Amino acid sequence: MILITHDLGIVAETCDKVAVMYAGQIVESGSIYDIFDKYVHHPYTEGLFASIPNLHEKNRRLSPIEGLMPDMSLPVKGCWFAPRCKYCSSRCTESAPPAADWGNGHMVRCHLQKEEVSTWRN
Ligand code: SF4
Repeated sequence: MILITHDLGIVAETCDKVAVMYAGQIVESGSIYDIFDKYVHHPYTEGLFASIPNLHEKNRRLSPIEGLMPDMSLPVKGCWFAPRCKYCSSRCTESAPPAADWGNGHMVRCHLQKEEVSTWRN
């Protein structure tokens, strides 16, 4: 069964494998453990998790992903998420990021290396 949803709670309860899509492109995929239990993610996935309400922090405002989706009718150079990504650098706007295996089939489509993300978030 393939389940398509924006509800990450349903995904967590139902799925074995997860593919995160942005602008029609899979930007991250892996096991449910890769997506929900690890803290190193594609920047878009990071933004999705940051935008989930936390019932234990009642005064905390939601953190939406700033910006808008790209216009899919226009050609895009580089990473499609670049205009909204807080980690964007010149390489991101110059070339499309490859899909990289961050271990055991955990795929991330980003110019960042897994080690860079791990260092920043520790
Ligand atoms: S390739 Fe660059 S712009 Fe795209 S998600 Fe990764 S860091 Fe952000």
